[in-house]
Amino acid sequence: MTKYYPVAKPVLAGNEKKYILECIETNWVSSIGRFLDLFEASFASYCGTRYAIACSSGTTALHLALCAAGVQPGDEVLVPTLTFIATANAVTYCGAKPVFIDCDPRFWTMDSTLLEAKINSKTKAIVPVHLYGHPVDMLAVQEIADKYNLFVIEDAAEALGAEYKGRKTGSLGDAAIFSFFGNKTITTGEGGMLTTNNSQLAEQARLLRGQGLGTERRYWHEVIGFNYRMTNLQAALGIAQMERIEWYVEERIRVAKLYLERLVAVQDYLILPQEADWAKHVYWMFGVLIKGATEKKRDRIMQTLAERGVETRPFFYPMHMLPPYQKLEVKDQFPIAAKIAAQGISLPTYANLTEADIDYITSALKEVVVGASE
Ligand SMILES: *Cc1c(COP(=O)(O)O)cnc(C)c1O
Repeated sequence: MTKYYPVAKPVLAGNEKKYILECIETNWVSSIGRFLDLFEASFASYCGTRYAIACSSGTTALHLALCAAGVQPGDEVLVPTLTFIATANAVTYCGAKPVFIDCDPRFWTMDSTLLEAKINSKTKAIVPVHLYGHPVDMLAVQEIADKYNLFVIEDAAEALGAEYKGRKTGSLGDAAIFSFFGNKTITTGEGGMLTTNNSQLAEQARLLRGQGLGTERRYWHEVIGFNYRMTNLQAALGIAQMERIEWYVEERIRVAKLYLERLVAVQDYLILPQEADWAKHVYWMFGVLIKGATEKKRDRIMQTLAERGVETRPFFYPMHMLPPYQKLEVKDQFPIAAKIAAQGISLPTYANLTEADIDYITSALKEVVVGASE
């Protein structure tokens, strides 16, 4: 049998089926139901926050968080240029402008030393992204946020279970968001969560999530809200996975450690992911940089790996390069992000990969990168 390793794969091996059947048998399939309450409560408890608000996606959770924080047309919000486009888009949905920040070359996340130079009277919030599962240096971000009175909303879509100085991501700013898309650490098909300790922000987010409908009078809408609700069916998947959350998180770390052990031997060719001494990295996707490679060469390497049954992904294009955002910025302002994006590939990262699987993938990668530089 020819081998094939996808880059991501959900594992739905707990109570998912049982809980989904319960939704169908009890008729609670829409956005009210016991699994929603359980999922929100268990998520808040896991992250160590007072509130967790389930949403239809990570993107809608982020839009809600920004709205609830009062981000308005004309405001500016600092975001890393190297991220998934949803981070920048959610800012744009508010009528605000995303202002991009280059990367820390060690951890590939937003470089907090570059924030201050981009702050002006329009700046309203900072959205640090814990990219690929590595937390941002949040104390450095918070210090600047305090100095300029800015909201901090963590984009923790890729960092469920990650820690900064012993504290879980999701609990580190004014609010945070997570995603449960199919390739994320846990999945509800589509889905997201907003976490916060701020009762006012939580209340506003709940109001906006449900069409601005208050709890007092039916069809009396306080404000223009959205329909960003999660369904009980989605929450049924979510709670089944929260029952095994430690396992999901530890599996990715186990897989990453195996990759690291096997790839140290080819460090002449690859830059491996680093973990800051203040971080617990959860390796949502285990990524490496091909040393010195152009984007073209990186793409050829990915193609050759695909022919051997190993699916990989390029890193995200930095936002300042993409058509909707390229006009906002001067081109060569983000040299670190440009380099990381051109050289990065993500390897298959999901629970249940065996040592033999990792051996196969890393042997293929070694041969291909060594071969490509001859
Ligand atoms: C996945 C992801 C999102 C968006 O989540 P969806 O659930 O797909 O809307 C936002 N930000 C980052 C960094 C992501 O990786």
